[in-house]
Amino acid sequence: MTGRVNGKIALVTGGGSGLGAADCLALAREGATVIVTDVAFDAAQRVATRIGNGAIAMALDVSSEAAWQAVIADVDQRFGHLDILVNNAGIVQMADCEDVTLEQFRRVNAIMNEGVFLGCKYALPLLKRAENASIINMSSTGALLGYPIFFAYSAAKGAVRSMTKSIAVMCQDKGYRIRCNSVHPGAIETPMVQEAEGRIGTERPVASGVLPAGEKGAPEDVANIVLFLASDESRFVNGAEFVIDNALTIRAW
Ligand code: NAD
Repeated sequence: MTGRVNGKIALVTGGGSGLGAADCLALAREGATVIVTDVAFDAAQRVATRIGNGAIAMALDVSSEAAWQAVIADVDQRFGHLDILVNNAGIVQMADCEDVTLEQFRRVNAIMNEGVFLGCKYALPLLKRAENASIINMSSTGALLGYPIFFAYSAAKGAVRSMTKSIAVMCQDKGYRIRCNSVHPGAIETPMVQEAEGRIGTERPVASGVLPAGEKGAPEDVANIVLFLASDESRFVNGAEFVIDNALTIRAW
């Protein structure tokens, strides 16, 4: 199948690396015009250049309200609406509830909790102008399981999971043609997971259950679900959570 998101305008946060980059490539391959955003503008530019026609790069720190307002104003001026918003940007932070500092907790939540809220809030006026819009929020299995050393990260991802459902129902109740779903990957081979594994390996013994012992997924495994949720194929899928973890979260032992 080709052209699954033909003619749609998509904005992806954290699009310069890992899962976000794979999302951008998949959406562009299937016909979307992709706004690749990242706090690391060079990285966003590299992905946009790789896509070529049909992609533009923009600098966006998702934790900044002013940056969101500026980017949305730019998108409004260029396109007048937005069909797809992928709130993907994130960082990893490793400390349990006893060790994490308030500053660390706030930083993680500023990016992955407030960043998703700001993205939804400021993109909604443009999404409301689309025929069938879709918000895809990147959560994690961290929102579903007890990972002690990903305390702040899991708190943020739990917030993403619940705000997704709240937005889905709000949009339905207000008659907006906007769906909102969350995605919950397990361990996927990206720079973030490499960093986390490196730190687990050097700072702590590798505890079973911290990261799955099995093979990791590829960014495309997540991008395939994002693409489905972005497309009109998923028109009856709303407020749902998609776990992409090769059975990690449903094991009974
Ligand atoms: P990554 O480190 O490869 O990419 C993250 C991107 O986000 C980078 O390009 C980075 O520059 C950008 N970013 C960081 N802070 C930002 C900010 N303030 N504003 C805008 N962009 C910012 O990581 P990844 O593995 O691709 O992770 C992408 C998302 O997927 C994250 O939300 C992460 O929590 C989530 N996730 C990843 C995995 C996994 O196994 N890789 C599992 C579950 C969830």
